[in-house]
Amino acid sequence: MVPSEPPSLTLRLARITMPDWQRQGAAHVWLPYAQMKTSPPPLPVVATDGVRLHLSDGRTLIDGVASWWTACHGYNHPHIQNAVRDQLEKMPHVMLGGLAHEQAYRLASRLSAKLPGDLDHVFFSDSGSVAVEVAMKMAIQSRLNRGQSGHRILAFRGGYHGDTLATMAVCDPEEGMHALFNGVLAQQVMADLPIDDASLLNLRRVIETHAHELAAILVEPLVQGAGGMVFHDAQVLCTLRALADEFGLTLIFDEIFTGFGRTGSMFACEQAGVVPDIITLSKALTGGTSPLAATIARKHIFDAFWSDNPDHALMHGPTFMGNALGCAAANASLDLFEREPRLAQAQAIEVQLHDELRACRTLAGVRDVRIKGAIGVVELHSIKDRAALQTKLLAQGVWIRPFRNIVYVTPALTIAPQDLNTLTRAIYNVLS
Ligand SMILES: *Cc1c(COP(=O)(O)O)cnc(C)c1O
Repeated sequence: MVPSEPPSLTLRLARITMPDWQRQGAAHVWLPYAQMKTSPPPLPVVATDGVRLHLSDGRTLIDGVASWWTACHGYNHPHIQNAVRDQLEKMPHVMLGGLAHEQAYRLASRLSAKLPGDLDHVFFSDSGSVAVEVAMKMAIQSRLNRGQSGHRILAFRGGYHGDTLATMAVCDPEEGMHALFNGVLAQQVMADLPIDDASLLNLRRVIETHAHELAAILVEPLVQGAGGMVFHDAQVLCTLRALADEFGLTLIFDEIFTGFGRTGSMFACEQAGVVPDIITLSKALTGGTSPLAATIARKHIFDAFWSDNPDHALMHGPTFMGNALGCAAANASLDLFEREPRLAQAQAIEVQLHDELRACRTLAGVRDVRIKGAIGVVELHSIKDRAALQTKLLAQGVWIRPFRNIVYVTPALTIAPQDLNTLTRAIYNVLS
């Protein structure tokens, strides 16, 4: 059936009409995080370049989100496009079971070299959630292989680690829909991040209580992203490293959001000088080109699987793991980090965001303005009508997608100062 309703309020106010392909497909595409009955139809995009989204009616938006934080070099970067085009001609994909190809092997070596310490063993997958599942599986099985008990994960309120059933169980209990899925999700152990003496004391108590059943501590270092862009100090990560060592737990850093320059360093863990036992990467790994993820383990984790016993192997193998197009894009993305001043650009974005979002602090309804690296957040007391807010932002010519009670920007690290200014001015204008 083809829906015949008129375009939604958002589309009408944005004066965008649906192209035929959208009108026809709308009844069949199940949208992300959407109440299909009431949510406005998405904006039809026909092309991208740099930090711009081109809509089907010829209009252009400056993108403040970089497509869920992936397009760190902007869209359509010619170096990545050429690498993917070359790889497409040669070989788009072969299975990693029993076959090897250059892009995956080069990428694994390069990631190992860039990551701190002996994070040297790269397991590829195809999405962030799967990368986190693999990390949890590694942590649990490394204990099983050594004859140790402990299978639960300690995770933090406000965290986000994916949408699959096992990762939902380590997300913030409210956001992770623990209540709705009561009795369905694995029972994990939740605590607050140790940001002060009281929360540290409480965390220690939680760990002591559950020490016999825990396998790992899982955290998004420096920034809890999808949970509301909440920041914590590097010291928190040092504390978690110390606690993990004291209690013999595996420390997992989920850098799917923070990896690749977003917080101002290549990886967030560098700012704490902490080496986790396992790290997960995805989002900006291919510069926003195609889906790819990686779970990287230190030697002592890998060694727990290294055995003459076949049962000790990591029994995991996503069909498209190490996809050659994705790995070619990721290698080209790493070239760009090596050749171009991405981290300096992230730091310059941080300075500009400080300058330009500061004015929002005094606006009515604003609770907090915070900036870390290329992440700028204006937190409101509440957002009553998100669709209306979204529409006003669109009218300013920007793509910024408020969620929970925050309006945020995570632009491409390559964004020009004038374009970033357009984003911050749009936020100020709309909120004032
Ligand atoms: C997005 C995200 C995930 C999930 O990645 P998907 O590719 O959406 O499965 C996990 N952890 C963090 C920190 C993320 O930001």
